[in-house]
Amino acid sequence: MRSTVIDTAAIIAVGSELLTPYRADSNSLFLTARLNDLAIEVQGKAIVGDDRKRLALAIERGLKDADLIVMTGGLGPTDDDITRETLATVLDAPLVERQEILSLIRARFAAHNLEMPEINRRQALVPRGAEIISNARGTAPGLWLEWQERVVVALPGPPRELEPMVDGPILKRLEPRVSNLRLRRRVVGVSGRAESQVEEHARPLYARWKDRNPVVRATILGSPGQVELHLSTRASNLRKAEDSLDLAVEELVGALGRDVYTTEGLPLELVVGNSLRSHGWRIALAESCTGGLLASRLTDVPGSSAYLDLAVVTYSNLEKINLLGVPASLIERHGAVSEPVALAMASGVATRAKAEIGVGVTGIAGPTGGTKAKPVGTVFVAVTGVGGERAKVFAFRGERDMVKRQASQAALDMLRRILDDHE
Ligand code: ATP
Ligand code: MG
Repeated sequence: MRSTVIDTAAIIAVGSELLTPYRADSNSLFLTARLNDLAIEVQGKAIVGDDRKRLALAIERGLKDADLIVMTGGLGPTDDDITRETLATVLDAPLVERQEILSLIRARFAAHNLEMPEINRRQALVPRGAEIISNARGTAPGLWLEWQERVVVALPGPPRELEPMVDGPILKRLEPRVSNLRLRRRVVGVSGRAESQVEEHARPLYARWKDRNPVVRATILGSPGQVELHLSTRASNLRKAEDSLDLAVEELVGALGRDVYTTEGLPLELVVGNSLRSHGWRIALAESCTGGLLASRLTDVPGSSAYLDLAVVTYSNLEKINLLGVPASLIERHGAVSEPVALAMASGVATRAKAEIGVGVTGIAGPTGGTKAKPVGTVFVAVTGVGGERAKVFAFRGERDMVKRQASQAALDMLRRILDDHE
């Protein structure tokens, strides 16, 4: 065994189906999570069809880029399963038949009273020098190869076969080979600001973090209604890594203020739920354009019955009137999508549920229904109770599902800020 430290990895997902719109490569996400836990950084990923030339190029490139190459898929028995052959060619390690694999495959078939089809014999061929990683859930064993200063691992494609192989024998083999640097991450969630605004405030900090010891790196991830900053650092001393991250998070909070809703990667609905729970307040929701998404998100949190009393979707004007007691005259005068109606929905549902807090959401999700005065994406969110009535109008961009998502996010964010004001 070599003693070079494994710091970096390249992942190659093999399979033409992964290049169609019907199958996504999820193995590399699983692998990245496990490798990151060992402070191995994934430097590149490739998805390659069942094509010998292209696969050979991907392997050659991986060998140049990274200490470890993890391949998944293409270990089956058919002609289009080319991982073994291509590895043999690139590493110049001719295929040899391994009796112990052959017996295992025969035994698997025998256990089902079947004779091994002759094509499965191919799965007993491995590049010379390869060590075998047994596969409890399939016929294709994994391969572990040491090549010059590199390690190449080939694993079967089906996630249910690959995952226990990684969590068992692969991690066990990697552990003694990784550096003593440990990777630590923080996820800071921001709401109420666009990605570009967050970036503008965070950018001056990035430069500072580059000169820190250990260095803190950041990536920014925007999605409808929220922005996440992922910070990471590597250090042999865990305490130093944590201190470095703590400081960086503190600086970020300093720059972004109350727009930061979590420094621990918690979803907004959980932050709001925790806050409701600690205040001991109960909440009721009346939704129109979000169609129950707000209730759905709040109830994604286990134990949400501690603070959620009632949630209704009043889509028609009639039910806004009948169920929530919104005055018909209010709808006539201002329209169903208006601030007074959002407020009346919130107070109506809170009264009905006898809850401390009421939320009303009404808007135009599109693609039709917009007017000049109230274009598609116009959403009113109202929160009543705990010392006041507040309403806000938003002008969201995007398709129907984006508008719904942003509206639910805006409502949760309004709640969060109101609850914060009542510490
Ligand atoms: P088998 O012996 O099952 O054929 P194999 O190693 O040849 O194993 P593939 O034929 O490449 O594996 O893939 C089998 C199935 O595993 C695919 O149909 C797909 O559903 C799943 N799979 C393959 N690669 C991936 C991947 N990168 N991410 C998620 N699923 C995958
Ligand atoms: Mg296959």
